[in-house]
Amino acid sequence: MAPPSADLLHANADPASTRRSARVVRLTLLFTLSIIGIIVALEGARLWHDYQRVIDEAGISAGNLARATAQHAEGALRQVDSVTGGISERIEGDGLANLNPARLHLLFKHQVEILPQLHGLFIYGANGEWLVTDKDQIPPNANNGDREYFAYHRSHPGNGLHIGPVITSRSTGEPVIPVSRRINNPDGSFAGVFLATMRLGFFLEYYAGFQIDEHGVFVLALADGTLLGRRPLLPNVIGTSLANSELFQDYLPRMNDGIADLESRIDGERRFVGFRKVNGYPLVVAAALSRQSVLAPWKVDVFKTALVLGVLGCGIGLFGAGLMRQFSYRIAIEHELRGVQLTLSQMAFYDGLTGLANRRKLDTALEDELNRARRLHYPMAMIMLDLDRFKLFNDRYGHPAGDDCLKAVAAVLAATVHRTSDLAVRYGGEELALLLPNTPFDGACKIADDLLDGIRALRIEHLDNGGIVTASLGVYVCEPGTQETSPAAMIKAADALLYAAKHSGRNRWRAAGGSQLAQSGPAV
Ligand code: GH3
Ligand code: MG
Ligand code: MG
Repeated sequence: MAPPSADLLHANADPASTRRSARVVRLTLLFTLSIIGIIVALEGARLWHDYQRVIDEAGISAGNLARATAQHAEGALRQVDSVTGGISERIEGDGLANLNPARLHLLFKHQVEILPQLHGLFIYGANGEWLVTDKDQIPPNANNGDREYFAYHRSHPGNGLHIGPVITSRSTGEPVIPVSRRINNPDGSFAGVFLATMRLGFFLEYYAGFQIDEHGVFVLALADGTLLGRRPLLPNVIGTSLANSELFQDYLPRMNDGIADLESRIDGERRFVGFRKVNGYPLVVAAALSRQSVLAPWKVDVFKTALVLGVLGCGIGLFGAGLMRQFSYRIAIEHELRGVQLTLSQMAFYDGLTGLANRRKLDTALEDELNRARRLHYPMAMIMLDLDRFKLFNDRYGHPAGDDCLKAVAAVLAATVHRTSDLAVRYGGEELALLLPNTPFDGACKIADDLLDGIRALRIEHLDNGGIVTASLGVYVCEPGTQETSPAAMIKAADALLYAAKHSGRNRWRAAGGSQLAQSGPAV
């Protein structure tokens, strides 16, 4: 049976507990990561839901703004349409030659006063000359034959309303939207143009009344994409064409109104755009909310959430790491304690000087082995060994030399037995013993011979013992299955045989077992 090794402490680590501790650490890690994962997933879902809601609400707001501006434009135009329709009917009926300029001037003036969107009312003759206006003065040599609407009506026989691009009024210098009708002679030939000018400011003031941030935009355009008005009003944008924009290319050809996420051709900003064709007139309005402005509060929320999650994640991570460290620490201590416990219990059964088992170990082993031999019916041998005249050895060579001698003899004892069930013991002082389960009488005598030979072969000088160190042995063999015996009885019997060997001259063995008796031959 092997004595405890120096690596015992580490070798004793229990693989099952190592696996258990690894599982605990894994579970802690998994638990920590799961908590962090669940919180991140829940917050992520909330943020995604909020993002969708913000976008939906922005679309609805842009759509509502577009509806309001379209209704505003339609209402303003419908009034002008109605006024100009009625008057032009009368003019055509009376004939241009029969106009009453003074009366019409007063009528026009009255209409312009009561309709805030109206800038002016004008009648031009077939060559563009001013015939009647609401203005008190007609500029000298004034002629509007060069205007776009004039050319249009001259070449288009229909008497429907025509809306043109923004122009600067020749009477007031103000930007206006011209809304005009053709006046025919009774024979249907071109007689002139009836023009109503609408104040661009009327629309811009309306758009300015909405509470939207500075990135928000309102647009009023002709159906062909020509820009009439815009909030904010950037320099030189009025009159430019939006015909190639995504709105006019992709959306308006397909639908009368809708919501789109578009990038502006004018300032490059992305916006949620509500757009609408104005009912009954060749106009388009659009109201757009900046994506950046709409999403700004949501982005702040994302930032705050990320911050809180970061701090929380770090906290939970640190907590988890601390927990794992604690577990690992406790598990390591448990390992160490178990190792130390095992080492101590092993040390309690082994002798420090020789490394052989001690008497305590022999007591336990002898009891167990006797029981087993009783059950399995095999013989048990016990050899007791005592060095000859060892007191004199110590006296002559000193105690340290005596210790070395004891170690050398113990090594012979350990080397003589090979079975794992054999036990070499330091019984006390310079008295050693061998417990040999399942060893018959002959075998035990043979081992006793080998032991004596081994000790003599050491040739340790012992001048007071005939020259070298020798030992005397008592060999006792019994059959616990068939004869009554006990640990004490076995030791006592082996001891008695040992002393018999001593008394018969030392450096020899005496054996007894059942009815057999034997002793070693003369010493070599
Ligand atoms: P005998 O042949 O009759 O056995 O003579 P002996 O001198 O050996 O007598 P005994 O066995 O009674 O003496 C035991 C001696 O063994 C006493 C002591 O000097 C010595 N001894 C016992 N234990 C130790 C030990 O651990 N180290 C050393 N160096 N000597 C020991
Ligand atoms: Mg002795
Ligand atoms: Mg002795």
